[in-house]
Amino acid sequence: MTIVCPRCGGRDCIIPADMVLDSVYQMYVACPSCMADPTFGKQTPFNRLFGTADGDINENTRSIDDATMRCQRCGKRHLDVVVAHVLGILLREGLRDMQATLFDVGTPMITIGYQIPFPPRLGRDTLILIMNTIDKKTAEMIISEVPEVKGVIQRKGSLERPIGIPDTGSSPHTYDLLAGCDLRGDIVSSAFGELCIYKTQSDTHIEFSRGKSDKMQVLESLYYQRKLGGSVVDGCCGAGTLGLVSVLAGAREVILNDAFLPAVKNTILNIRANASVLGLELEMHADPSELPIVAGTPVLVATAHGSCDVSVYHGDLASLAAVIDRCDLCLIDAFIGVPTAEFVRAWKDTAGMVVTI
Ligand SMILES: [Zn+2]
Ligand SMILES: [Zn+2]
Repeated sequence: MTIVCPRCGGRDCIIPADMVLDSVYQMYVACPSCMADPTFGKQTPFNRLFGTADGDINENTRSIDDATMRCQRCGKRHLDVVVAHVLGILLREGLRDMQATLFDVGTPMITIGYQIPFPPRLGRDTLILIMNTIDKKTAEMIISEVPEVKGVIQRKGSLERPIGIPDTGSSPHTYDLLAGCDLRGDIVSSAFGELCIYKTQSDTHIEFSRGKSDKMQVLESLYYQRKLGGSVVDGCCGAGTLGLVSVLAGAREVILNDAFLPAVKNTILNIRANASVLGLELEMHADPSELPIVAGTPVLVATAHGSCDVSVYHGDLASLAAVIDRCDLCLIDAFIGVPTAEFVRAWKDTAGMVVTI
């Protein structure tokens, strides 16, 4: 089964989860012929990485290209070498100075994120970069000159400001995809099994987890209290993580909802990409391209059946309480700092238990 990428139309961006979970542990490993880790640090200025302290900018940036420190056998390069190659282009185009280090390039995200205990070796299209100072022309140069880079995203606003909509009264905050494709996945591990949760990264909130996430521990604790087996509402579902892990945990019914359309689209994509792991078959009820970016009245967009009855809504969470007859558990995973009192109030009669995460 091939799933076409909703962002770029490519056929390689979304690999069904069962195949990813089988192969992810090999994806970033060095082969026996790979060179040792580079000896330079992330805080070494570029002119001491590849150039010479007294060489001019052009001489220095020419010292690194597509072939630099690439393994002849597996074709991969160390993450730091790839980022140094990008830094060379940024210097050449005048967007960084010679004192800039690998840290000054931006935030590197591997296309299938999981906890790897070693620095990754990257093959083609395995890195998405989030940068502050970058323009479209240079982003396109990076995509065409550095084979490992799949997408370049420009950050908007402060690092702390979450991507998406804090509530349905606000306009959405998103980053800009300047070049390439920003579709990537994260392996989610839980006591119930693993999923690969895909997302269009420029319009999805970035969560950096160290090991098992706190949210997964909340779900596991609910499971051991026997609260996860009935009907579960994942009220601000984002890409669908909590709701789909609840399916894995054996919930009888799961209702996923988000007011932000890109989140609903990613949730539906994740039901398809994880269909064989979850034992679900998807059925569409509305065309997402005809829905507004920020929802009001809840619309049932998709259902899935098999191991669990799943519904996906695009709606305001407070209004959804009037649409759903009854549920055992309502999970509210709102952005930090966003008041949830209105949602809790709306759901207290509909849900047996409301948990804000
Ligand atoms: Zn794509
Ligand atoms: Zn190699």
